[in-house]
Amino acid sequence: MNTRATGLIRPEILALSAYAVPSSAGFIKLDAMENPYAFPADLKPGLMEHLAAASLNRYPDASAGELREAIRQAMNIPDALEIVLGNGSDEIIQMIAVACAKPGAALLSFEPSFVMFRLIATFCGLDYVGVPLTKDFAIDIVATRAAIEQHQPAVTFIAYPNNPTGNLFDRDAIREIIMLSPGLVVIDEAYFAFSSDSFLDEIANFPNAVLMRTVSKLGLAGLRLGFLAGHPEWIREFDKVRLPYNINNLTQAAAAFALRHYDALLAQAAILCIERSQLLKVLRTIPDITVFPSEANFILLRVPESEKTFKALLSRKILVKHTSASHDLLGNTLRVTIGTPAENAAFVSALRDTI
Ligand code: PMP
Repeated sequence: MNTRATGLIRPEILALSAYAVPSSAGFIKLDAMENPYAFPADLKPGLMEHLAAASLNRYPDASAGELREAIRQAMNIPDALEIVLGNGSDEIIQMIAVACAKPGAALLSFEPSFVMFRLIATFCGLDYVGVPLTKDFAIDIVATRAAIEQHQPAVTFIAYPNNPTGNLFDRDAIREIIMLSPGLVVIDEAYFAFSSDSFLDEIANFPNAVLMRTVSKLGLAGLRLGFLAGHPEWIREFDKVRLPYNINNLTQAAAAFALRHYDALLAQAAILCIERSQLLKVLRTIPDITVFPSEANFILLRVPESEKTFKALLSRKILVKHTSASHDLLGNTLRVTIGTPAENAAFVSALRDTI
């Protein structure tokens, strides 16, 4: 049928592929950085009570005041910072991009990094500038200085730790980027719960930097909740492009309750950090693979033939992310999320068989 869609849709959208989420039914799912542990059983009755009390017939609290306060308390957000919530931090990236998309404005990030920075820049009509990382996945500060000078980015996204490489960038390089930037710098701490470092205590010192986090990797991916903490002057503007009622009643109720039991969420993250060390240790004993260090709940590895290994893992019902094609620096790589000890053992055993 000639719907005329191809004539009407913007060419840069026609050129995109939709964000692909493979079906995972029946698989050991180690592809999406989810927490493998269920919500703690002893907290479930309390959670159910909270959900039962939510009014499904009413629109949500538009400002989600109780939830914002719960985030503040749980994560010790400095008083100088205001908070705006998103339906996942993906939505926050989009809010920032929409607000900054003046004609000709640029969004800068690094390559390889989180793909949504580039995709959302494209959705919103921003010029995307992807500065290549060095081959050990560090920020190339010389190239970054030049890119900032040339493109004068309205907004820069820095994933700290980075996805899919798992490392923390040099803190001083990030400070320099914030100082040099004519625009806003967003520090994306999606993996903060597994990281040895954070910008939370420093962010308020910069007039042009904000901090983004998500609860997705903390065991609450199904709720879709992220937030941006920054000076009120920034947050006020981003709040204007937030769609009304973007955080639904069930998410507000469940997340506010869960964050009042933040210690239980952090305890699961701590277990995953221990599992990460075990998995790193075991993977390093397998000949012919390169294992990259990780400050997140996943590990990037390079194998001799990633396509063959990825398919062999699939045939053993193990789903990881095949990152090889996404960037030149990622040739023959796979990204595996830290699972339960049994899932990690199944992965290692299948990997050994396929290398
Ligand atoms: N930032 C980074 C660096 C990520 O890796 C992800 C998810 N993979 C996100 C943001 C988005 O997380 P969410 O939308 O689930 O909050």
